[in-house]
Amino acid sequence: MTMRSLIPALLILGCVNAAAQPPSVWPQGKRAAASLTFDDARPSQLDTGLLLLEKLGIRVTFFVLPGNVEKRLEGWKRAVALGHEIGNHSRTHPCTGNYLFSRANALEDYDLERITLDIGAAQAAIGKLLGVTPASFAYPCGQSFVGRGRQARSYVPLVAERFLLGRGYMGEAANDPSAFDPANAMGTPFDDMAPAQALGILEAAAKEGRWVIFVGHDIGPRKFQSVDAATIEAIAAYARNPANGIWLDTAGAVARHLAGKRP
Ligand SMILES: [Zn+2]
Repeated sequence: MTMRSLIPALLILGCVNAAAQPPSVWPQGKRAAASLTFDDARPSQLDTGLLLLEKLGIRVTFFVLPGNVEKRLEGWKRAVALGHEIGNHSRTHPCTGNYLFSRANALEDYDLERITLDIGAAQAAIGKLLGVTPASFAYPCGQSFVGRGRQARSYVPLVAERFLLGRGYMGEAANDPSAFDPANAMGTPFDDMAPAQALGILEAAAKEGRWVIFVGHDIGPRKFQSVDAATIEAIAAYARNPANGIWLDTAGAVARHLAGKRP
């Protein structure tokens, strides 16, 4: 194909694309949103994370366990003062009993009343310790059920009543604002992820107007359940370039923005 015949073909393709895309829900000039979230209130989030994030000038969401906040109270107060969002991650972190660490506190043995009390206790403790009221929740282990078999129930409705956002884990897609459920949003793991892979995810999200909620645990060297500082630096640099069209903000800020866009 010659250049002369290629140009009209590209123009037609451009028109088809523009017609197929719904109007952007994102702020002016942005094509996608990204949030960095870190779970469990682990010590490395304070010891390595706060300084790194301050240097990069970005704000993230920490889904904390109040027991861990209590152990490092001054550090977590500093995280709040730096503008990071504090989210609820339950009080006792119940997951399926298939994880040995959760065998004695298994979701299979819970009912809706018990999980409500656990989430409420975390909310009260976070309020007392840090003086903030979380608007975002992250399902421990990304699991949103209680009970087993015919008695199993989803606790997504409880989260929907209490929070603007309920974030999952190990999601295989980013959130499409026109289709997703804010109380059951997908979380994309970025522990042990190379910088280039994270940037590829952002690029794909920009093409489809999506919201990537990255989920990590420790901050520091790249390893199991630890996000490489270099990956965080690469995401921040990518989002800083206006040409990439990425809105990088806390999960709560993006959830609030989207809530305002709903009919
Ligand atoms: Zn967790």
